[in-house]
Amino acid sequence: MERVLLRELGFKTRNEALAFLKRLWRQEKAACPICGNEMEQLHKKAKKSDCDWQCKNCNKTYKTMYLLDEINEQMPE
Ligand SMILES: [Zn+2]
Repeated sequence: MERVLLRELGFKTRNEALAFLKRLWRQEKAACPICGNEMEQLHKKAKKSDCDWQCKNCNKTYKTMYLLDEINEQMPE
């Protein structure tokens, strides 16, 4: 599986991107922004700091800390 990149997700604003990440950190059910499929956690009982997800349909992993770095680099406040 490849790690998904922020630009693949099509978020228009920083707030939109952060709202998506927060759902993942709260371990709520979230739909893959690319295909709409329900995502699954990569590791059960993950700590918040490494709460990573996957979309089996897209064959992508969602590494939340990398995505946060990308948001901060590409979508500064
Ligand atoms: Zn997907």
